Amino acid sequence: MDISVVVPLYNEAESLPELTAWIERVMLAHGYSYEIIFVNDGSTDDSWQVINRLSQSNPAVRGVAFRRNYGKSPALNTGFARAQGDVVITMDADLQDSPDEIPELYRMITEEGYDLVSGYKQKRYDPLSKTIPTKLFNATARRVTGIHNLHDFNCGLKAYRSKVVKHIEVYGDMHRYIPYLAKLAGFSRIGEKVVHHQARKYGKTKFGLDRFVNGYLDLMTLWFTGKFGGKPMHLFGVLGSLMFVLGLVAVAVVGFGKLWDMHHGNPYILVTDSPYFYLSLTLMLLGSQLFLAGFVGELIARNAPGRNHYEIDEEI
Ligand code: UDP
Ligand code: MG
Repeated sequence: MDISVVVPLYNEAESLPELTAWIERVMLAHGYSYEIIFVNDGSTDDSWQVINRLSQSNPAVRGVAFRRNYGKSPALNTGFARAQGDVVITMDADLQDSPDEIPELYRMITEEGYDLVSGYKQKRYDPLSKTIPTKLFNATARRVTGIHNLHDFNCGLKAYRSKVVKHIEVYGDMHRYIPYLAKLAGFSRIGEKVVHHQARKYGKTKFGLDRFVNGYLDLMTLWFTGKFGGKPMHLFGVLGSLMFVLGLVAVAVVGFGKLWDMHHGNPYILVTDSPYFYLSLTLMLLGSQLFLAGFVGELIARNAPGRNHYEIDEEI
């Protein structure tokens, strides 16, 4: 099969028939063999009935339904597990992403050799309250992830080589960072294509402004787990040792300073009257705590089921 289109959806009943008809049109025009996998993320409207009806009139339409709402990432992950196409395309259900982009995305994967191509909504039809934070968000993401050529990490329209979606695990709210997940899994050919974007036609957005707070926290988590997940001591140990040594030196300076003054008959103050004494104590305490956190982290990492899982590319 050429293409799997994975569509996560939550209460998008009005959009589904139009979206399906549009995808069918594009697929037919280019002669692709395809499937559409609708992942119903616990919708409370009649999205699921609509999907049922659509699948009866077109056998290429498949559907999976969660019993409750889990979020976009779990929906994508579930769709990825079921996708059978050589190229997997994800798009939002709300008609903001255009199926007309599919052929070019498909070509970039199959002919230009990209592992992943992300859409870039250069001209967005979203409120300003979303477009401005988005710019900031993407700039931060570019820096932290080191994927400098992406302008729009969170674009719902993306294309993947099948291998990629089978080797990454999207959980929590991590759909915002799938390119980073792919990079961490060793897929380095990540490209971008400017895509058309439309205002939402039906229904309303499912994400509020909290997406930016959560997005930032998730980015920190991914950065940390990607870099130190297998060796937490390399972060905590370094920080802890530095702080401890700094504290030790500082406390020594305070102590010897007093002895020196005493010895030379200068006026001196008690060690416990010096604010530096308490600062050094705090440093030493925090330092040992960090060091212990490193040890605990190592104990956890040692028991992690994936500790010896590596992405093997080829073998003879
Ligand atoms: N979505 C989902 N589960 C959720 C929230 C959203 O499957 O809990 C789907 C939603 O139906 C849509 C896509 O994720 O197909 C993107 O959501 P939305 O259009 O609300 O996001 P925005 O365009 O505002 O970024
Ligand atoms: Mg949308």
